[in-house]
Amino acid sequence: MSDITNIINILPDSVANQIAAGEVVDRPASAVKELLENSMDAGATQIDLILKDAGRTLIQVIDNGCGMSDSDARLCFERHATSKIHQADDLFAIHTMGFRGEALASIAAIAQVELRTRLHDAELGTSILIEGSRIVSQQPQACPPGTSLAVKNLFYNVPARRNFLKKDGVELSHIEEVFRRITLVHHDLGFSLQHNGKTLYDLKAGSMLQRISQLYANYYKERLLPIEEETDLVRIKGFVGKPEHARKTRGEQYLFVNGRYIKHAALNTAVERAYDDLLPDRSHPSYFIALQVDPARIDINIHPNKTEVRFVDDHALFAILRSAVKKALGQFTLATELSFDTPPEFNLAPAPSGYIPQQPKISYNPDYNPFRPSPTQTRIKLDTPNTLPDLNDPLLTPHSTLLTPHSSLPTTPCLQLQDRYIATALSSGLALIDRQRALERILYDRLTPNSELRTPNSQTLLFPINCQFSAADAELMGELLPDLQDYGFALEAVGQTTFVVTATPADVQEANLQPFFEQLLADYKASTLQKFCDRGQSLRAALARQMAARATSPLSQEEMQQLVADLFACPMADTTPGGKRIITIVKPEEIFK
Ligand code: ADP
Ligand code: MG
Repeated sequence: MSDITNIINILPDSVANQIAAGEVVDRPASAVKELLENSMDAGATQIDLILKDAGRTLIQVIDNGCGMSDSDARLCFERHATSKIHQADDLFAIHTMGFRGEALASIAAIAQVELRTRLHDAELGTSILIEGSRIVSQQPQACPPGTSLAVKNLFYNVPARRNFLKKDGVELSHIEEVFRRITLVHHDLGFSLQHNGKTLYDLKAGSMLQRISQLYANYYKERLLPIEEETDLVRIKGFVGKPEHARKTRGEQYLFVNGRYIKHAALNTAVERAYDDLLPDRSHPSYFIALQVDPARIDINIHPNKTEVRFVDDHALFAILRSAVKKALGQFTLATELSFDTPPEFNLAPAPSGYIPQQPKISYNPDYNPFRPSPTQTRIKLDTPNTLPDLNDPLLTPHSTLLTPHSSLPTTPCLQLQDRYIATALSSGLALIDRQRALERILYDRLTPNSELRTPNSQTLLFPINCQFSAADAELMGELLPDLQDYGFALEAVGQTTFVVTATPADVQEANLQPFFEQLLADYKASTLQKFCDRGQSLRAALARQMAARATSPLSQEEMQQLVADLFACPMADTTPGGKRIITIVKPEEIFK
């Protein structure tokens, strides 16, 4: 009878491992992270990563670390098999990257793994084949000292996982991100990354600054300022970006603790706060900052796939980090006398009591007639940085159209404010249009395939321009090349990492294409990583944003009217492709108030 009611089984190890594997290894990049960390823990000074098909068919890591004995080589695939901790107390003094003894057991449960390893003073090494947690063979093997671990056909026995993988480009960018997070802070070790037979990185041991230049591009180091600070609690070393190189997208923001990449919202804020108002609007600085703290004062006993860390002394750390960054920036600003002309936000809040409006200085052409198309550019420009629009403005009052319902768009006069906003009358009120965002929407729609608005237009450059990329970015440029050509760029690869551009779409008003492409790639990568939009959409959105961001010269009356008309021809005129608001309407009632 009892036989019938007992229903609990102990799962066989192979099944348990496969379940656990789902948590540790969810995509090729997480296997890469575990293997690279193991090699570092083994004391390797040179670590080579070889990939095929973005890690789908092969992830191999070869190191010159301590290697393993015959029996350790077999044991390392058991769950909770680790050489790194022995007792619970050890958890509070972790000096290694791994300590759970889960990674290899997990990987071996969901792939075909080939391990070759040799201790430095052993004559022969060991070779083990293991497949779905089952040891297929083990034999002595002549091999160099150190370890080579090849993971083949990841998820071969977990079709659900395999089908979940994204396109190679996406998986590879995840791997590259893992690679950067490790190699940036372990700059004293040599690393290489090879994908489908092509070497993407060959990083020699050196300083952090050298590592940054190797990973990004050589000119990158000119954009950085060193930071250094030592207190009882923490040692800080690294680099922060000069304010003028801040980006709209959170690009290179790397924080490390004891050699481990972490995410920490408060410490990120500490860095950004240090910039105060040195940063242009809504942009984020780059930083590469390594903290060294007593391992007993942090809690890293967290999920292997997560990057959060808890600090005992987080308040103090916040203050120390912020002041260290401030110091670096202060020394720099003192030396160079920076000035930024960030356009203040357009602000329609009621005037504070006691506010005395200033008469804006206006220069305009009294002969201007909007109904007479004139080839000469007529510019109406408000040149006051005042944040409150003065509605007694002589220019506004004669045009009663601005206050009464009006709908014939193309001839409604427009006013440009601070080179950024366009004011015009709509039937519903006074429309304030963010010019850059409007342009972004228009360009995005124009770039959409099969769009009626699509006009492939290209302008040949007077002189071809060379652009230099990191190996990985050059690879990505290569992938995007057909699309870029389709959009009106004429460019081709010359050498491994250089592209020569001979024509651009007419809407690219940019003499300096290097930052244009850099921002474009950063923007593209960010959106393919974070959002679930397809590659074409991501590229289109990134292109439109970069083209629009650079259109800052004042517009003529006709150009403004054209822009407004083009905007309203778009089906989704009120938001950018990224979902930002383009138009704010001030209703007549609000204006009268
Ligand atoms: P953990 O790293 O948490 O200890 P892993 O499953 O990643 O667990 O590895 C298990 C053990 O295998 C390690 O503790 C280490 O002793 C050994 N090992 C793994 N990779 C290597 C390597 N590349 N070189 C030497 N030993 C290794
Ligand atoms: Mg490990």
